[in-house]
Amino acid sequence: MERSLLLIKPNATKRNLIGAIIKMLEDNHFKIAHLKSFKMSDELAQSFYAEHHGKGFYEDLVSFMRSGTIIGIVVEKDNAIDNLRLLVGKTNPEAADPGTIRYLYGESVSLNSVHASDSPKSAVREIKLIFPEL
Ligand code: ADP
Ligand code: MG
Repeated sequence: MERSLLLIKPNATKRNLIGAIIKMLEDNHFKIAHLKSFKMSDELAQSFYAEHHGKGFYEDLVSFMRSGTIIGIVVEKDNAIDNLRLLVGKTNPEAADPGTIRYLYGESVSLNSVHASDSPKSAVREIKLIFPEL
């Protein structure tokens, strides 16, 4: 069993999509290992997205991630990291395959409703940042 991190972003929690997104995880055989509702501090948002520091969208991304409630979920499944990225779909919802979370619930590239870890290294780093108590 592999672990990955999914975040439900503020634009999705605001639109009452928490249940719908969790249902997609369960329907696709992901186990919910840990789950919490929280808000990001400036420091957490900046370090979470440190790889994008200096890019044109970075400041807006950090302030968006601080703008409302986030749901953090550690999921478990065989090949959880790759499988979760497939279920989430491409970064831009307009390019995402039908049936993916971002196709169904993304509003735009910046408001794409969810985050998913992109590699084993990212998953370990991101789970540690969001769930330091584990
Ligand atoms: P992903 O979330 O698919 O791993 P990236 O790591 O490239 O995508 O980007 C992180 C997040 O930054 C995206 O989910 C999105 O919210 C935002 N983002 C990425 N590219 C852009 C862009 N060109 N314009 C605005 N926001 C962007
Ligand atoms: Mg990424």
